Amino acid sequence: MGKIAIVIGSGIAGIASSIRLARRGYTVSVFETNSYPGGKLTEITKGGYRFDAGPSLFTLPSLVDELFELCDIDPRKYFNYDQLDETCRYFFPDGKEMVAWSDHEKLASEFEKQLGEPKANISKALKNSAMLYEHLAPLFIEKSLHKAETWLSGKAVSAYSKLNRFDFNKTMNEVNKKRFKQPETAQLFNRYATYNGSDPYQTPATLNIIPHLEFGIGAFFPQGGMHSITQTLYELAQSIGVNFYFNTPVEKIVVHDNKAKGIDTKMGFHKADTVVCNMDMVAAYKTLLKDQHQPKKLLNQPKSSSALIFYWGIKKEFSQLGLHNIFFSEDYKTEFEHIFNKGSIYKDPTVYINITSVKNPADAPEGCQNWFTMINVPNNQGQDWDYLIQYARKAIIKKLSQHLGENIESLIEVEEILDPRLIEQKTSSVAGALYGNSSNNKYAAFLRHPNFSKRIKQLYFCGGSVHPGGGIPLCLSSAKLVDELMNQ
Ligand code: FAD
Repeated sequence: MGKIAIVIGSGIAGIASSIRLARRGYTVSVFETNSYPGGKLTEITKGGYRFDAGPSLFTLPSLVDELFELCDIDPRKYFNYDQLDETCRYFFPDGKEMVAWSDHEKLASEFEKQLGEPKANISKALKNSAMLYEHLAPLFIEKSLHKAETWLSGKAVSAYSKLNRFDFNKTMNEVNKKRFKQPETAQLFNRYATYNGSDPYQTPATLNIIPHLEFGIGAFFPQGGMHSITQTLYELAQSIGVNFYFNTPVEKIVVHDNKAKGIDTKMGFHKADTVVCNMDMVAAYKTLLKDQHQPKKLLNQPKSSSALIFYWGIKKEFSQLGLHNIFFSEDYKTEFEHIFNKGSIYKDPTVYINITSVKNPADAPEGCQNWFTMINVPNNQGQDWDYLIQYARKAIIKKLSQHLGENIESLIEVEEILDPRLIEQKTSSVAGALYGNSSNNKYAAFLRHPNFSKRIKQLYFCGGSVHPGGGIPLCLSSAKLVDELMNQ
């Protein structure tokens, strides 16, 4: 009889793992608490509007393509995406506006024209980001940090010779403040820390690697929206024989003689040769592995930030808004102190609006727009979220109404709200953190849980709470690492 693998959770890394395991010849079953696949990468439909509920920025699409190619299927038959010419529109409190073009020459000219930032500074920043990516991605994203081979490889040796250029000992803000002439440019580049839920005033400047993903490799938009990543991979997994059990939370990982033997659900015991856990690592230790050794240091690491999102169906089209829009909001910083006073987070408030109907008109009724309106907030530490939601809603509406010269509240015809409590409830992510443990400390990359258990054989971990980290590309990478580790 062939080997059996069980995947706990159908987040994007869980689905990717299931595909990889099935291609290795395993009989694969995915157990999922929710009634739908995708975890954070899901969608909301209401009143003629469709919203991508979680991620809005798509980078490294090749990692999705690779899963189709593994199954000898041409990805272009099922999954397509377009590279964005403009990655984001930025709106500053003093009325300055700029478009972040993907073309570097155009981008540098825009910075110079709109913000007075010398073009050379932009080119230098992008080169630095590319250098960081070239040397660090092969170690910190594409390999397990917990295997000696990684540190003895040629790529590691080449990186050692450049250690002083990686800025481990400075914060992102320190480097950006020094690098750029204009505070707005530093503020804009600092924002990339939020891509993994960190604070640029604490996180090492090594995270200046992130802009390379967007500007160097490219930002993309899947035809059909972000949720099509989940949907197409879910269909791909099913087409190669993966079984999905929805509404079926896993209650325990069964371990005998330091080896994972299967799982318990309400249906009883399910035997497996290999178990891959895609559930938040901390939650998994506290519930599914509560009888096992607890890696206390890892479990107690500070968590990344969370998000407060208003999904608004707006009965008007605003031509000045693109797919991604950032409003820097220093002018009402004090109002947001209520929200930012707990936990470590980017303290320069931004309101982020993602409008997929700009690219995909089917996402909103004619003449309307689907606004995914998000502010970064600390993870859940028991704040009075009901009060904060109303507070933030008022402040955001005031800000946007002033900026767009229109009473936004009167244009909202559909509304849904997601807050850190709900994120935790819907995905088991501890404290509603979007990216597992935070990366605010320079050792954070080394303090993520490995993709395997050091104590329990045949137990592997994938997803945003373990190595290499959160975000779709890193989650897909984690599934690839599990595959490689199993093959070793
Ligand atoms: P998760 O999505 O965390 O899913 C885990 C799954 O496990 C869930 O479905 C859960 O129900 C299931 N589960 C948990 N416990 C059990 C159990 N006991 N039994 C069975 N099933 C269980 N990333 C980007 O790349 N770009 C972005 O722009 C971006 N923006 C984001 C915005 C928001 C608002 C959010 C919430 C996230 C964003 N992210 C972004 C992060 C990205 O969504 C996540 O890193 C990624 O989707 C996490 O995938 P995962 O595989 O870790 O699983």
